[in-house]
Amino acid sequence: DTDIPADHPRHDSLVTRHRIEDGVEAGITSKQGLIAEGRGEAFDYLLGERTLPSADAAARAAAAHLLLARHPVISVNGNAAALVPDELVALADAVGADLEINLFNRTEERMAAIADHLRDHGASEVKGLDADARIPGLDHERAKVDADGIADADVVLVPLEDGDRAAALSDLGKAEIVIDLNPLSRSAQVADVPVVDNILRAIPNITAHARELADADRDELERIVAEFDPTAALDDAERAIRSGDL
Ligand code: ATP
Ligand code: MG
Repeated sequence: DTDIPADHPRHDSLVTRHRIEDGVEAGITSKQGLIAEGRGEAFDYLLGERTLPSADAAARAAAAHLLLARHPVISVNGNAAALVPDELVALADAVGADLEINLFNRTEERMAAIADHLRDHGASEVKGLDADARIPGLDHERAKVDADGIADADVVLVPLEDGDRAAALSDLGKAEIVIDLNPLSRSAQVADVPVVDNILRAIPNITAHARELADADRDELERIVAEFDPTAALDDAERAIRSGDL
């Protein structure tokens, strides 16, 4: 995907598409992941393929949540692993979070392929393979998590999560950060911090905010968390889409 000129008007969308295609070929991304990708592209197009100021504020609140957490966990699915493996590892390092693989269509082959892929991109430890705990209220396969991972987490970052699982995680009382380009999706709507932005831009942006806030005291981080309004962020993204003002 390196031969797409950086100033090409559809650069991000073409990069994304190629990475997802490669992910499917490598057994990392499911066929359903292709459909999710198409849906995401449509929303990114309508948002002008840019990070809205409200999404940047959400990324900053997400960074503050992750830095304040006792045990932050970043959930990784087949699309996230294909699109931003280096960036996920960098964020996990910056905030001291675990990476845990969690798949809508869980197969041992895909779990192993994604774990290898993340390790190839520098991850030291990858969770999700033990699957020795369950999230209440979900069917068997979707409920599987690690006891010392998502089950124990107080803050979870779930990029491109499906609505049922996002709701079940928030019902557990965990602070939930969702990255989702569709402000109307249930996942975005149940999030404490919905980041309505392409994961390609959102993960490095959260990392940049986390690095900038690395020396902030807890009071300042708590203030950033308290001042963030998820409903206002979703409304702002929806307004940007409806305005057609790219
Ligand atoms: P629900 O309303 O239950 O949340 P859904 O329509 O969100 O359902 P999926 O198709 O599984 O169900 O969701 C995929 C989501 O991921 C879509 O909202 C899509 O916009 C989003 N998405 C896809 N690619 C990206 C991406 N690169 N960055 C951010 N979000 C993305
Ligand atoms: Mg969704």
